[in-house]
Amino acid sequence: MNDSTLVSSLMDRDVAGVTIGWVDNNGIVRSRTVPVGELPSAVRRGVGVTAVFAVFDSHDGITFAHEGLSTPSGDVRLIPVVDSPSDVVPLAGQPGIAWANGRQVSADGSPWPYDQRSVLERQVSRAADAGFEVKAGFEMEMVITRESDGTPAHRGPAYSANALRDIDEFTVRLLRDLAANGISIGQLHAEYGDSQVEIALSPLGPVEAADAQVLARQTIHSAAQTHGLRVSFAPLPSLAGAGNGWHLHTSLARDGVNALTGDDEYGLSAVGRNYIAGLVRELPGIVAVTAPSSGSLLRRRPGYWAGAYGFWGVENREAAIRLVPSSPLLGTEHTNVELKACDASANPYLALAVTIAAGLDGIADGRELTDPIQEDVGGWDDDRRLAAGISPLATTHEEQRANLVSSGLVRRVLGDQLLGAFVACRDADEAWAANRSDDDVLESLRWIY
Ligand code: GLU
Ligand code: MG
Repeated sequence: MNDSTLVSSLMDRDVAGVTIGWVDNNGIVRSRTVPVGELPSAVRRGVGVTAVFAVFDSHDGITFAHEGLSTPSGDVRLIPVVDSPSDVVPLAGQPGIAWANGRQVSADGSPWPYDQRSVLERQVSRAADAGFEVKAGFEMEMVITRESDGTPAHRGPAYSANALRDIDEFTVRLLRDLAANGISIGQLHAEYGDSQVEIALSPLGPVEAADAQVLARQTIHSAAQTHGLRVSFAPLPSLAGAGNGWHLHTSLARDGVNALTGDDEYGLSAVGRNYIAGLVRELPGIVAVTAPSSGSLLRRRPGYWAGAYGFWGVENREAAIRLVPSSPLLGTEHTNVELKACDASANPYLALAVTIAAGLDGIADGRELTDPIQEDVGGWDDDRRLAAGISPLATTHEEQRANLVSSGLVRRVLGDQLLGAFVACRDADEAWAANRSDDDVLESLRWIY
């Protein structure tokens, strides 16, 4: 399909504008909308956006603390990624608008070191070079309230049909809109927290999984708005309740067959063992990218299934790394690894990139896997955890920052420039939070994702 055929087919569907979305270093989806007739030009030349989006913080402040982007000068091009016509999605919930995911390139068209999408693409290529195809999918938890008065949209109980009946019209619209927008989900349910709901996206290739997560957010927000509801994807909507985890599931296939599955006592292959060992080894650095915000640090509490401690277990929901094994019922393709310490404030492209890289490193090094832990280690005393080699993951900015800058893995995957910008964003968020209460910090993050 050529440019003009694509534009006419979009116009036939009454599309007036194409929104080009990308995710910044705070997990915020930023966008530009072009009139539909300008799409071909945008695909060829991009639209201009400031270079300092890489150093926007969670409060729309711009930090100039990162050396590479220390002035307001500079422009980059945002290019809608349109490899096939289906990459431009007329939005079911926003008649007249279509969606495309964006890539940032330098003004001369060369790669822009701060482009998060390219970071993930590099890890996908690296996996392919090692003979692996990666599959990934996010679970998305959210809290839904009434727009008019902020009251809960459902009354529970957790996981109940009663709860979902309270938001029946929204649910039906959401299921229809997700399908119309080409997003496949495994399931939807009322989650444990107050007025919480979860959808689980079906597994896809990593870049496609990140793209789907971004489009799912847009789809969910629109469906909610239509029904007078408002959705918070924030890692911790309020101190009182459960957090919103966006758990990240990954698996590897070789020659079309799940490469994690094997015949050790946990149903793992050597590759599967090394993959998990690689993830566990790098957890402090990984979670500084996959759950990076002030809200993420507050979400990271034992007893909430949010991955507060750095260990792995088989189906252990308190573990930061949960093995989801195959079974005779589920079949050998089912094996996957869930990272609990991931949330909406992560850039999904970066989150996937560091996760995949850590697993591939584990395989490359033949990293030995420790025994799984099946208990809630939050109930253990410090000595017992120490003896088992289990540390709490960071809960302060200082610890998390130190883990970020000292992780060779994160530096290699993001590159010095993007890492520098990412750290500057975290520092700016911390400076904003310094003289404010936890409640005020959470309030400031509640609606931004
Ligand atoms: N809401 C929990 C979190 O913050 C997760 C609950 C679950 O395991 O589904 O991650
Ligand atoms: Mg859940």
